[in-house]
Amino acid sequence: MVPGMDILISGASVAGPSLAFWLQRYGHSVTVVEKAPALRGGGYAVDFRGKVHLTTLERMGLRAQLEARATHMGDIALIDGDGAQVSALPSAIFSGDLEVLRGDLAEVLYGATRERVRYRFGDQITGIAQDAHGVDVTFANGEPGRFDLVVGADGVHSGVRRLVLGDDPAHRKPLGVYGGVFTMPGTMGLRRTGIIYSEPNRSVSVMSPHGGDQIVSMTFAEPGLDFDHRDVEQQRRLIAERFAGVGWRTAELLAAMERAEDFWFDETTQIHLDRWSHGRVVLLGDAGFAGGPGGNGTGLAVVGAHVLAGELDAAGGDHAAAFERYERLMRPYVATCQKQADGSPDFLVPSTWKKIAQRNRFFKTVRYVPPARRLFRYLATRTATAFELPEYRLPALV
Ligand SMILES: Cc1cc2nc3c(=O)[nH]c(=O)nc-3n(C[C@H](O)[C@H](O)[C@H](O)COP(=O)(O)OP(=O)(O)OC[C@H]3O[C@@H](n4cnc5c(N)ncnc54)[C@H](O)[C@@H]3O)c2cc1C
Repeated sequence: MVPGMDILISGASVAGPSLAFWLQRYGHSVTVVEKAPALRGGGYAVDFRGKVHLTTLERMGLRAQLEARATHMGDIALIDGDGAQVSALPSAIFSGDLEVLRGDLAEVLYGATRERVRYRFGDQITGIAQDAHGVDVTFANGEPGRFDLVVGADGVHSGVRRLVLGDDPAHRKPLGVYGGVFTMPGTMGLRRTGIIYSEPNRSVSVMSPHGGDQIVSMTFAEPGLDFDHRDVEQQRRLIAERFAGVGWRTAELLAAMERAEDFWFDETTQIHLDRWSHGRVVLLGDAGFAGGPGGNGTGLAVVGAHVLAGELDAAGGDHAAAFERYERLMRPYVATCQKQADGSPDFLVPSTWKKIAQRNRFFKTVRYVPPARRLFRYLATRTATAFELPEYRLPALV
């Protein structure tokens, strides 16, 4: 690719900074616009599994930094309403090969790019108009600008996707599961381990990857819930209502949620699009192909960023050819991961007491059998490794 293109990326979580990392190394001028006022911390642990993810991190030179922040979580206890352990989930299923807190990952990616990439926090794109030679962009707060390419890496509720492909409900496949995540001071004596308590259509999990603070996740299943993804107070109310009366120590966790500053809530929705680009605008990560829980969303975002940047470089400035190859290469991989995530609601939030007992019994029966542990490992990495990572020119730091 001809160096020196002006590229605008929307979204500074995982996909956006990963792409910025590569593009600036290939010699482009990169701006990232993020609607949050600062880099967003918080969120649960996200994981990388198998050689495709890990090779990508190695090529970025970030694997060691991430290993240093890894959670090294052990098995997760499945408990009953009295807090007694009835079974356990193997860590291979939950934590993959390298698990880090999402906020830590965002911080590492930001740290690796902030000196050479322009970050504009507290702003967002309001208009996109493109012609054969470039893209004119207007912003909510900043001056308008013209760019060679625009990338939507702004998550499931992508503004870029809406502006270029419209707000078609057919783009979304809701999985009917909603979850709130927040951090609170440790009260359960957990260290590198966690607990899951389930009632029909409700699950509460508490994890403490590093000791100290605990990360709480409250997940519920419900068909077609209407909520405003911008209204955090409404989201707290939703969690409080849905978990009122749930047993174990749920009341104590709900009280902590009211004080949590990093509360994050979202639906689990897959994004399915007929195409991932339109002219000079392309989508990456959850904005283009969110998978939902168990769909390797973070790995796909990081691998997709590598492939998109590598194809742009290999195409020598022909963005249309690069976008086409990026999509052709990534689509089957994404489809495999999305298919796996289809089954996640049954596992995360079983709908009846009977199904909860079956899930718990299954893990109790198989966890002590060595072949079963090998089977878990195979199942846990099967979709994440279903991709032949292309070899790209790896540019030195410029
Ligand atoms: C605060 C937070 C917590 C999360 N917690 C979890 C979790 O617990 N478990 C899990 O599986 N996944 C979680 N995720 C999602 C997970 O990070 C992604 O599924 C995955 O890593 C792919 O990342 P992404 O960069 O494509 O999308 P995302 O991580 O969703 O990032 C999108 C980014 O774009 C920004 N943005 C959104 N709209 C606009 C706009 N119009 N203009 C500019 N910027 C915009 C968002 O603020 C965000 O920083 C969380 C995401 C966030 C932002």
